[in-house]
Amino acid sequence: MNDLLPEACERWQRIEEVARATLHAYGYREIRLPILEKSELFARSIGSLTDIVEKEMYSFEDRSGENLTLRPEGTAGCVRAGIENGFLHNQIQRLWYAGPMFRHERPQKGRYRQFHQIGVEAFGIDSPDLDAELILMCARLWRALGLDGIVLQLNSLGTPAARAAYRQELVRYFETRRDRLDEDSLRRLDKNPLRILDSKNPAMQDVIAGAPSLMDHLDDASRVHFARLGDYLREAGIAFTVNPRLVRGLDYYTRTVFEWTTDRLGAQSAVCAGGRYDGLVEQLGGKPTPAAGFAIGMERLAELLALQGDTHHAVRPHAYLILLGDTAERQGMVLAEQLRTAGLRIECNCGGGGLKAQLKRADRSGARHALLIGEDEVRSASVTLKDLRDGTQRSLAQSELIDSLQKEISRGATS
Ligand code: ATP
Ligand code: MG
Repeated sequence: MNDLLPEACERWQRIEEVARATLHAYGYREIRLPILEKSELFARSIGSLTDIVEKEMYSFEDRSGENLTLRPEGTAGCVRAGIENGFLHNQIQRLWYAGPMFRHERPQKGRYRQFHQIGVEAFGIDSPDLDAELILMCARLWRALGLDGIVLQLNSLGTPAARAAYRQELVRYFETRRDRLDEDSLRRLDKNPLRILDSKNPAMQDVIAGAPSLMDHLDDASRVHFARLGDYLREAGIAFTVNPRLVRGLDYYTRTVFEWTTDRLGAQSAVCAGGRYDGLVEQLGGKPTPAAGFAIGMERLAELLALQGDTHHAVRPHAYLILLGDTAERQGMVLAEQLRTAGLRIECNCGGGGLKAQLKRADRSGARHALLIGEDEVRSASVTLKDLRDGTQRSLAQSELIDSLQKEISRGATS
């Protein structure tokens, strides 16, 4: 679990602002959901035999004996909220949320126990134009952030029935090759054999490459759905590769699944992942409602942008107000308020100190300008305006300060 220090927060804020504007451009609306849910919600949605539910959840019994879990992902809670508040049945909903998720994973670069996602869920549309919209929205976000080196992988998991038939064939294939499976895969063989395809173990890649492909076992409707999605993406100029090994770690997916991946973050290559989950609403007690969504990993996205050397705009004060003496301190506080009312960001010296000490603080604040009021300035109702970058300074009447400072700032912004 990481502390996010101010510099990191500035990068995150830019991502959040760009993401919000992008999501709103497609008509998605924000929803805010609890971080705690009943544990059974996740077992029933993500699947009791998945890694997340078997070994990664932060679960506890609360004071009234209820089993609760810190959410490991956002989709289950969003569906629960939709059913409870009745906003899913016979409606189209386009929603997004952002916030922390919790998984007790082995900590490593790009994999944390508290991490953050921006999640998107769309309900009530079963056609592949929606799948395409979700992917276009991601692509627009990457463009708006100036992100490069990220590629789209697509697959279809078909219907649960098609997947069950495929699963049998897959188990038969791996059963006859047990000696080539690692410990993890042997464990998955009975419980969740599709996940073997997802193994990152280099020694397993040959046996995985020879396995039957889910693509060859799709039902007709899923095949058509997938082909049409491909058409939409080609039409829109979105490059993608079909990866028949892309299976995702959660049970609720049907048909389309996708991941945006990068080769710049080492082993943790997925920056964004999602897909269709047409069966989940009904499975959790709602009326049958098609749905699809995705989640972006904030830490990995921020790391990628940092590696690219993105210029995130640090929010700094426009000016640091240096105050020398009692009268200056009293007048200065009022002046600072007037400047803020005029829309300027002013950091006001607090706690006194000599000129040298205050100048040092002014430098450290990151402000471009210092405003100085000492005894002379008090007497003449003036302010000394100092450019902290080139060291020049001049005297201004307090009455013309707001105008001059605003001019100075817009000049600085264009130079
Ligand atoms: P992975 O294959 O990397 O384990 P996942 O399939 O568990 O990912 P999802 O549950 O689909 O991932 O979550 C969507 C995104 O959230 C991921 O693509 C990733 O960017 C991010 N994410 C997931 N788990 C973590 C984690 N423990 N720490 C940081 N980011 C994470
Ligand atoms: Mg995972």
